Amino acid sequence: MTPPTTTAATARPPVADFDRLTAQAFLDAMPYASIVLDAGGLLIAHNAHADELLEGVPSDRLGRAVEGPFRVMVDRARRSGVTASFEQAVGEIWYFVAAYPLASPSGAPLQMISAADVTARKHTEFAIRESEARLEEATRIAQMGTYKVYWDTELVHWSPHMFIIHGQSPDSFIHTRAAYNELVHPEDRDLYEQYRRNLFDGKALHGADYRIVRKGTVRWLRLEGRVLFDSMGEPYASFGTCQDITEAKQREQELKSLLRRNAILYEALDASPIGVAVVTTEGPSAEVFYVNAEFERLTGHKTSSLAKRSIMALQPGEGGEGWRDVMRALHTSGGGAFELTCARRDGSSFLAKLEVAPVRDHPGRDATVFVLNLRDITSDRQRADALLQAQKMEALGQLSGGVAHEINNLLQPVLALSDLGQDIADTDPAKVRKYFQVIASSGRKARDVVRQVLTFARRDAPELASYPIARLLEDALTLLHSGLPPGIELVHSIDVGEAQAVVNPTQVSQVVFNLVKNAADAMDGSGQVSVALSLAEVDAAQGAALTIAPGRWIQLRVADQGCGMDAYTLSRVFEPFFTTKLAGKGTGLGLAVVYSIVTGWGGMLKLDSEVARGTSAVVYIPAASLS
Ligand code: ADP
Ligand code: MG
Repeated sequence: MTPPTTTAATARPPVADFDRLTAQAFLDAMPYASIVLDAGGLLIAHNAHADELLEGVPSDRLGRAVEGPFRVMVDRARRSGVTASFEQAVGEIWYFVAAYPLASPSGAPLQMISAADVTARKHTEFAIRESEARLEEATRIAQMGTYKVYWDTELVHWSPHMFIIHGQSPDSFIHTRAAYNELVHPEDRDLYEQYRRNLFDGKALHGADYRIVRKGTVRWLRLEGRVLFDSMGEPYASFGTCQDITEAKQREQELKSLLRRNAILYEALDASPIGVAVVTTEGPSAEVFYVNAEFERLTGHKTSSLAKRSIMALQPGEGGEGWRDVMRALHTSGGGAFELTCARRDGSSFLAKLEVAPVRDHPGRDATVFVLNLRDITSDRQRADALLQAQKMEALGQLSGGVAHEINNLLQPVLALSDLGQDIADTDPAKVRKYFQVIASSGRKARDVVRQVLTFARRDAPELASYPIARLLEDALTLLHSGLPPGIELVHSIDVGEAQAVVNPTQVSQVVFNLVKNAADAMDGSGQVSVALSLAEVDAAQGAALTIAPGRWIQLRVADQGCGMDAYTLSRVFEPFFTTKLAGKGTGLGLAVVYSIVTGWGGMLKLDSEVARGTSAVVYIPAASLS
């Protein structure tokens, strides 16, 4: 027999020696607390690791039943059979216990039991389990779904809420990438893919808001993911949460469009050529909480300098008439239009028109918020005054033809009778006296005409007094007659006897002139204009409709069979400068002037018109009370 070579002997494991290893050495080499029991459960051997789990001094232990912490494990192992494995807590410490059979060299059955301390692992396990339970509870409360994807197998695990969010049944939905992509809104598939890629590539951004189509309706989801790494630091799965954020998205959209609308409204208000302020009367005064750009420009006040201040900051130091009415309107939740003097920040002031309108934000409750429109009417007023004067002059110019004609007529008898009178002065003094009477009467009439024209041209406020209206109208018509186009026939009926009207004679001719001229214009140069003056009894209903007091009125009607007016024209005719006539033909002031004159008397102007049929303008003139 060749002895084994040295090299072979050292390379090969010492198999023969292994047999000679003592059981004790084997036990001692074990990394866990281990004991060996005989069939009766008596302790035969143990290693050093088992020391602290056994009671008593080592020499006394052998051949006896196990006592000490190991006892619990031994009892449980023996109950479970010869082979067993379980985890057992002993006090604070967790053991993994394994029991398996051995045989003694003589063939007696033995049992070996080892107990490994797994407390640390157990604690991690508990921690994980607890955090999982917490996560589950949190996601349930947050209506959140969770998912986990194992990268190697593409195995997907969805929490129950994931199925609800996606409108899928856990029984029928098969998780594949293709199946999921089908759920994603076609427009958001790229976005979703990007999210996946980012996750796989380890990019920082692991979230995505995207849409799915759930049973035909679009829902917004928010996905947030994490990559999970194994103990070697290798990514093996992704884990994430998923939330249905449709409602939140909708609110976000609504908020966005609300903000946009708000911005537009503010811009629109700033673009408005009218000063706009919003004030609130919740406090004791009328606090300003918003003014637009034009309001700032008009008053010189910035929003900031006006905010939280009373609107009374605009009341001039002295003579703030009108402001009391504004405050009354605000505090009685009313509205209205006011003309008043408004102070600028620099102390100067301007004539303003202020319109106040309550904002009824709570139906049925008194308004505490008001919108104010402010306009500078200083130049408007000046312009209107100038134009009214111009219109008067225009009418005067038109009338002057009539005036010349009239005076000419009056001069005829003066000249003729003067000549005649001279011839017969000596022979027929009685006749001459008669001539003088006619001459004087004509002279007086001429003087009246001149006076009338002069009053007409006067600028100052007209005085009202009682006049026999029939005569005033006749005079006006006489002056007007010759100024009309030849094709226009002017017919009149006067049936008021000696009735007195409270008017101003100049204004009467201005009213008649404007109405007759409009009628003539409407008939394009040929046709009949009828002027009728009569007495009218206005009853309560008519009075209410006309906004005049019931009773006796003098009615002046000017009618034509001209082109008439449609509803739109009718609605605007009283506006100054509204005209449908060619430039140079109409100023658009006629009816505005008539209206302001007539209402100035306390009367009313009413138009009845029908397209292609004609128009009749009726003026209600206040009658002087009969005494
Ligand atoms: P103007 O005569 O200078 O246009 P007015 O104020 O007198 O201004 O009239 C305004 C408008 O009302 C006229 O342009 C015309 O369209 C309409 N209108 C007034 N009177 C009549 C009428 N009798 N028939 C038809 N339209 C009329
Ligand atoms: Mg006119």
